[in-house]
Amino acid sequence: MKLVFLGAPGAGKGTQAKLLSDELSLAHISTGEMLRAAVKAQTTLGKQVGDIMDSGQLVPDNLIVSLIKERVKETDCQQGYILDGFPRTVPQAESLAEMLSNQGESITSVVLFDVTEEDVLARLKHRQETEGRADDTVEVQMERLRVYRELTAPLIDYYKKTNLLKTIEASGSIEEVYSKLLSALK
Ligand code: AMP
Repeated sequence: MKLVFLGAPGAGKGTQAKLLSDELSLAHISTGEMLRAAVKAQTTLGKQVGDIMDSGQLVPDNLIVSLIKERVKETDCQQGYILDGFPRTVPQAESLAEMLSNQGESITSVVLFDVTEEDVLARLKHRQETEGRADDTVEVQMERLRVYRELTAPLIDYYKKTNLLKTIEASGSIEEVYSKLLSALK
């Protein structure tokens, strides 16, 4: 099973991906977490992307695609995986499709976590208070939402055309959204 989780920052993708990956023994691949780890460890990649992430912009497609290509080769991905935060642009989605088709594989489903901007802002505010991420200040949050609308939201139409898209209304509690997720994947 190869799943893509799509949705605005703060839509709850990460929380739901953790729950589902545990239940189904899938690898949880969060590009945001991988990049934050690289920044923390001050790797070559980390040094390249730190400022970009802090400003709310997207890291260049080629860097992210290379990161994903290496990550999916790891043994924990053999049972399948959840891509959380990738792809985030149409070119990234095209690279993913090409990578999988070269291996004779394809995406099983794309889940869109649909939330209102009001909910997203409330969740981001809560996350800032509890996690204190450098890219969660109000200005950066607004920029990340703008980038989502401009570069990531076009993926909704992209995946609608492939018939892979399952949309979940994701404003409820963690438990409510998780049960909708399980139903959508049945
Ligand atoms: P996230 O934790 O998914 O919200 O990601 C945090 C930040 O990492 C984003 O604001 C981007 O700067 C960067 N990032 C994560 N995933 C991607 C991606 N697929 N493409 C480009 N940049 C990304």
